[in-house]
Amino acid sequence: TISMLVIDADGNLSGGCTTSGAAWKMHGRVGDSPIIGAGLFLDNEVGAAAATGLGEAVIRTAGSAMVVELMRQGKSPFEACKEITERIYNKHKNHKDMEYLQVGFIALNKNGEYGAYSLRSGFNYAVSDNEKGHRMEDAQFKM
Ligand code: ASP
Repeated sequence: TISMLVIDADGNLSGGCTTSGAAWKMHGRVGDSPIIGAGLFLDNEVGAAAATGLGEAVIRTAGSAMVVELMRQGKSPFEACKEITERIYNKHKNHKDMEYLQVGFIALNKNGEYGAYSLRSGFNYAVSDNEKGHRMEDAQFKM
């Protein structure tokens, strides 16, 4: 999945995402990316969030919408991404296919603060702003 979250000089947010879906997916599978609230969610009064990883797990938790709701309640983008990633982990930790599970979120709030968190290593993202220019950052991860 490739997602992009943007804030402009007036503080307006926008976001988008695209994905090739899951490997060996069933014909007709719909992942999380085309579902607003799952793979992507944005509330211009609060912030924006996007997901990567196993779409079914993200859909079941309304993952990106939940990240935005946690930011509405005062959590930082990082804290919100971490809490929903851990919620998904807790719901799946006894599943037989747990070893294949990867999920991660990136979030941006109305103040331009951003953060990311994923279940496993390997989730990195590009950031570009006027302060520090273009760079790559690695998301913190649980396992
Ligand atoms: N989230 C995507 C899907 O489940 C897969 C991915 O992140 O690469 O369709």
